[in-house]
Formats: sequence, structure tokens, C-alpha cells
Amino acid sequence: MPSETIETDSHTLVTIACLSDNYAFLLQDKKSGAVALIDVPEAAPIKAELNARGWTLDQIWLTHHHDDHIDGLPELIADYPARVYGAAADSHRLPPLDVALGEGDRFTLGETEVQVSDVSGHTLGHIAFFAPAAQAAFTADSLMALGCGRLFEGTPAQMHASLAKTADWPDDTLICSGHEYTKSNANFAITVDPENAELIARIRDIDSARAAGRFTVPSQIGLERATNPFLRAHTAGVRAAVGMATASDVDVFTEIRSRKDRF
Ligand code: ZN
Ligand code: FE
Repeated sequence: MPSETIETDSHTLVTIACLSDNYAFLLQDKKSGAVALIDVPEAAPIKAELNARGWTLDQIWLTHHHDDHIDGLPELIADYPARVYGAAADSHRLPPLDVALGEGDRFTLGETEVQVSDVSGHTLGHIAFFAPAAQAAFTADSLMALGCGRLFEGTPAQMHASLAKTADWPDDTLICSGHEYTKSNANFAITVDPENAELIARIRDIDSARAAGRFTVPSQIGLERATNPFLRAHTAGVRAAVGMATASDVDVFTEIRSRKDRF
């Protein structure tokens, strides 16, 4: 199973392909050596990555309860015991948590501060982890590359409010989302933002990345703001494309989300 690595002076971020189209992530705080795993779709490729690097595992952060994000946990912690972090609101359907989190909570990985946001919508109790010093946010099936997760439990208004919580994240923040869905998201995005030159250019980049076998995740939030229709309900281009020039942002978002469901 392939992986891709982004190195900065202070952190190493490893994106690991799992199952058919899931991603898990390893984040190392270099100063302390502390390592976190974000989501556990399956154990084998994550164990292989940890073994190859000679890393131990300190923390596991769970974004939400879906099987394709937690199923590998029992097998993984048998070899790599770690403290498990997840949403208090989801604790009844997550593996046993050592640390139960909610909106606004903070904790540290070594010297790296991590901020927790409730980003419900895909599920109720989905959380995102933002580590400013690592310039990285782990959004799984909330904010995704050129998309957002399907609304299995929450309302469109809830997802719209959840995505608004990313507004303060700096443009260069890496968006570590849960699946390689970017190409199919792009096929939809262009239908509701057809004149967007940055989107058109991004789709070319996506096609060449996929043709070369490279991941399109993580992306950066600045690029998402410029191209992801689910962050662009307020823009004239999207509003014109869906014929809702004067509607509220939430109503435009709701229309886009329902078109995507039918796409
Ligand atoms: Zn999910
Ligand atoms: Fe998922």
C-alpha cells in the first residue's frame, strides 16, 4: 500500500492509503518524537508504515464512528498501544476512548497544540482536529477535497455551519480528508461553478496527479476556498449557476448538496 510524506522543520505528515479509497494519517511532532494516527480504516498498512519508520504510536485520534474509520483499531493497538481520542458525543458507538472531546477542546501532541471542532453533518458527533503549528487539519468526511461528506445524520444547515468553522484556518493549512474522492467531486463541482478558472486549473492538476498514481489528499484550505463549491455558496458564480442569485447562503448550500446527492 502506498504512502506519501510531507516534511517541515517541525513535523512529518504521512498519508497512508487504506482499503479501496480511504486515507489514514500519521503526524509526528519532531521535537518530542510524539506520533499521532488519525483514523484506522485497517491495521496492516498503518503497521507497515510504523514498522518501516521505527516509530511508536502515542495517540490515536478518531474523527467519527463509521466502520471505514475505526475498524482497524483493535488489531492496531494490540501491537501499538496508544491513547485513543474521540468525540464524547459519539462515545456510545466508538471504540473505548481514553480522552473524550468536544467543540473547543484543546490537547497536545508533544509540543503541538491541537484544537477540536464539532463538524457534525456527515454524522452527529463528527469532529475535526486542527494543529496550527503543523499547518494541518484532519477533517475526514466533513470538509473533503472539492467536496464535503454526504449528510447521513445531520442537516444541510448543520454541515454549512460546520464548514464555516474552517474560516479562521490559514490558507496554507493542509486539509487531510478521509477519502480519494477528488476526481468524482471535481466532475460535480464544475457543474455548479463552471466559469471558475482556478477550478478548471485544479481539475487539470487532479487528472495529472491521478494519472501518475499520486494522491490528491491532503489539499490546502486556500485552494478549497477558491474551488470547493461547498465553501462557495456565497459567490456570484455558484449562485448564477444554480439560479439562486438572492437566496441565503444556507439555501444555496442546501441546493448544491442535494444536487450532489443526485449527481
Ligand atoms: Zn464516514
Ligand atoms: Fe468515510
